Amino acid sequence: MQSGNPVSKRQDCAVVIIGAGPCGLMLAIELGRRGVATVVLEEKATPSRFPSANATQARTMEHYRRLGFAEKVRAKGLPPDYPTDIAYFTRYTKYELARFSLPSAREARMIVKTLSGSWSAAELPHRVSQIFVEDVLREEAAALPSVSLRPGWRMTAVGESGTGVEVDAERADGSKRTTLRATYAIGADGGGSPTRKALGYNLVGERGVQRDFMGGRMFAIHFRSPQLYDVLPHARAWMYWAVNRDRRGFMASVNGRDEFTFHTQLKPGEQPEQIPDAQAKAMFQTALGAKLDVEIIARSAWHAGYTLVAEKFQSGRVFLGGDAVHLFTPTGGLGYNTAVEDAVNLGWKLAAVLNGWGGPALLDSYQIERQAIAKRNTGYARTFADSVGLLVPPAELEDDSPAGEAARKQAGDHFNYHARFEFNIPGITFGGRYDRSPIIVADGTAPPPDKPNEYAPTACPGGRAPHLWLADGRSLYDALGLEFTLLQLGERPADDTPFRAAAAAMNIPLASVHVPGDEARDLYQADLALIRPDQIVAWRGNTPADAASVLRRTAGHL
Ligand SMILES: Cc1cc2nc3c(=O)[nH]c(=O)nc-3n(C[C@H](O)[C@H](O)[C@H](O)COP(=O)(O)OP(=O)(O)OC[C@H]3O[C@@H](n4cnc5c(N)ncnc54)[C@H](O)[C@@H]3O)c2cc1C
Repeated sequence: MQSGNPVSKRQDCAVVIIGAGPCGLMLAIELGRRGVATVVLEEKATPSRFPSANATQARTMEHYRRLGFAEKVRAKGLPPDYPTDIAYFTRYTKYELARFSLPSAREARMIVKTLSGSWSAAELPHRVSQIFVEDVLREEAAALPSVSLRPGWRMTAVGESGTGVEVDAERADGSKRTTLRATYAIGADGGGSPTRKALGYNLVGERGVQRDFMGGRMFAIHFRSPQLYDVLPHARAWMYWAVNRDRRGFMASVNGRDEFTFHTQLKPGEQPEQIPDAQAKAMFQTALGAKLDVEIIARSAWHAGYTLVAEKFQSGRVFLGGDAVHLFTPTGGLGYNTAVEDAVNLGWKLAAVLNGWGGPALLDSYQIERQAIAKRNTGYARTFADSVGLLVPPAELEDDSPAGEAARKQAGDHFNYHARFEFNIPGITFGGRYDRSPIIVADGTAPPPDKPNEYAPTACPGGRAPHLWLADGRSLYDALGLEFTLLQLGERPADDTPFRAAAAAMNIPLASVHVPGDEARDLYQADLALIRPDQIVAWRGNTPADAASVLRRTAGHL
């Protein structure tokens, strides 16, 4: 695929992943756990240290738990007792308008065991900067013998060749080149995705939306200030929003001590690269409502207002995941979380095919399942951006007068509603479904309506397996196998022999788990349920009679 300079060629892996962001690293972990030889190319020689994403959703934490490192992630970021409140102010040192109080990491671990209904879960969300999560993901991926991380290597060309793929790569400084031959390649290479461009796919949807806030060019600083908490007169929060007519912004606490990020929307004529540090600090001080010098650690610029999904997620042996196929306004905190779930979905399927038990329909189901979720989630993020960003602060909002007080009450009501709308989203995080997937065996029941703030646990095939805590204190998810699991629900276990026999005949790894008690049987509304490796209900029923055809279909042999 390349010409010119000396080339050292190697053919050494099953999968090449392009990009070591959250999507690429999580995919490497899913593949590495299953022994798949995987190379991850990452053009950056050292990881980015700008803390972009702040929110790891509960479903993502459940996947980290499945892979055994949720506790490592929960230990990162804010101190264990730091509250994760979201609070709204005119300026950070002035009037508080609204607050949504949320638990600290320590409390989250305890509370989750007592919750039911919408928050019936193995894990609650965790508020932590992406840089810390990526540190854990990188560590986990690097520890897997079949995974090779190659920082400082840029993919320059990717395409199919005969029965596999070829990926050209060069050292970021141009000093070396190589061609990797593999069975599959995955572009997890971010919003500008060179892989997506090489495949010729466009991102389709909405861009260039203008809002008073969260609709336009954004500018961010990562800064250090050991004094900031001393000047904030309000209770601590994880995220602080400033609502005024001079300078709107949001600020997240990075380590609960002295590091923060501040994001603001640029006004017409302001160019991020032309903003001197003094002006960047002044922007922050306007939102703070006080003079306080801070030390700028890093700067960044990004765009708010995208609702974009790629036309296709796959071309033959080349797949795309993460920001490469969906771009969000970060309201709701869904971009990285959706990227991780792409990796979870694709990981077990690729490994199943490479390990010989998965059929071709598994790989075709990736786009069908994940594109629908990308459209759903980007749509939800857009409604959050409208809710927070279309409200224009009234002129009297900061006045020390009855009119000012009334305006603050009205804004407070809005943000008290908005905070719960945007940040209490069990429906989004647990309620994503794969109803139109060819590898799900529908049972004729209808799933509950899709709502962002409510999740109704259901074992209707195509959705997340309903969670419960077992009598021994473990999460049901801790009892599931790495690949498929057949749940036998209720006091007297239904016969699992036909499933075991069919799985053995097709070499499909299947664990069988008996969950006694009426609670489990009632929750699943069936005696048996087949759970996929990504904890999605693939089938449920009361008799194992169709075991062979169920397994054939759910393992992609249509
Ligand atoms: C301000 C802000 C706040 C956010 N907050 C949240 C939040 O709270 N929750 C949330 O879920 N999401 C949030 N996001 C979104 C989140 O940061 C992204 O969705 C996430 O990083 C996507 O992960 P990814 O792995 O798909 O892509 P990326 O993180 O972009 O990783 C792609 C990687 O590919 C590498 N790469 C690119 N080209 C090549 C090449 N040719 N060869 C080799 N490597 C290459 C890049 O260097 C990069 O490391 C936020 C984003 C912003 C900007």
